[in-house]
Amino acid sequence: MNGMRAMVLGRPRTPLRVAELPDPVAGPGQIRIRVRACAVCRTDLHIVDGELPDPKLPLVLGHQVVGEVIDGGTRFRPGQRVGVPWLGFTDQTCRYCRSGRENLCLHAEFTGYHRNGGYAELIVADEQYCFPIPAGFDDPAAAPLLCAGMIGFRSLRLAGDAERLGLYGFGASAHIVAQVARFQGRRVFAFTRSSDTVGQQFARELGAEWAGGSDERPPEELDAAIIFAPVGALVPAALQVLARGGVVVCAGIHMSDIPSFPYAWLWEERSIRSVANLTRQDGEEFLALAPRVPIRTSIEVLPLTEANEALRRLRAGELHGSAVLKVP
Ligand SMILES: [Zn+2]
Ligand SMILES: [Zn+2]
Repeated sequence: MNGMRAMVLGRPRTPLRVAELPDPVAGPGQIRIRVRACAVCRTDLHIVDGELPDPKLPLVLGHQVVGEVIDGGTRFRPGQRVGVPWLGFTDQTCRYCRSGRENLCLHAEFTGYHRNGGYAELIVADEQYCFPIPAGFDDPAAAPLLCAGMIGFRSLRLAGDAERLGLYGFGASAHIVAQVARFQGRRVFAFTRSSDTVGQQFARELGAEWAGGSDERPPEELDAAIIFAPVGALVPAALQVLARGGVVVCAGIHMSDIPSFPYAWLWEERSIRSVANLTRQDGEEFLALAPRVPIRTSIEVLPLTEANEALRRLRAGELHGSAVLKVP
C-alpha cells in the first residue's frame, strides 16, 4: 500500500503517536518533498499544549523542514533540496499582503498548524513559499534556519540598529541571532535562567560578552532586548535594563501574561513590540546571509519516532541549541 510514517497529534495535551498516513499528493502549484530533517520549535510545544487556537486535527507538526523535491510544481527540479517554513500560504489580496506585510495576512496558513508539517516522511507544500537550501549546511544543520533562524532574523531587524543587544532565553533562536548580531558588529548580552550556567557558557562561546541570569543587571544599559522565552515577566525585567529609546521585541507566538509595571519604566521613548511570523523576503535575505556569517547551528539529532522525547527536552530546558528529527 501507499503510506508514509508520521508523528501525529490527535488532540492537544496528548503525546504524538506513530501513524501510517496516505502518501500526500501535490496539488496545483505544490511540490511533494521527501523529508530529510525537521527541527523542533517552541511553537510546536505551544500547539501540543493547546495554547494556540484551532489547529488542524489530527495534525502532523513541524515547520522547519528540509527535504528533497520528488515531484510537482515548476519552480524546483526533482532531487533539489528545499526548505519549508512556518508561512505556508497567504492570499496576496488582503490589505496586509498588498502593503508588503504578508506575515500579517488575514488568511495565512501555517505549516504544521493549519497544514500538515514535517514530522513525517513526506510533505506537500506550496512551492512559492519554499526556499532553496544554501550549500554548506547538511540537512539537520540547515533545519533550524527555517524558523529559529528566520524569525530570529526578523526579530533582530525589528530591534533596529541597536548596538548593545540583550537576548532573553538562549536557545534555538538566540544561538543563531547571536552569531548574526556579532557578524553585524553588535555587542551581545545573554540572559538565561539564573541556574543555567551551562547555557551562559554556551552564550559566551557564541560571542556574548556577558551572560547571566534574567534577574541580573548587565554591566551596561542595552539598546534593545529580544525575548525568546515564553515568560511575560521578562518584559518589565528587560525594560528596566534598557537605555532611553530602547525596544523590547517579543519573538514568541505565545507568552504568559505580562505583569503590570510603573509607567516610568516605559517612559523616555522605550517601546515594546511583538514579531509575528515571517515574510518570504525575510527568509530569502536570511538564507543569503547564513553562509556569509557563517552560521553554525548547534543541534541535537533524534530519530523521527523520538519526537515526544525531543519535545520533552525542549520543555525541560535541556537543549542548548535545537532538537532536529532525522528522517531515515
Ligand atoms: Zn517556529
Ligand atoms: Zn493576505
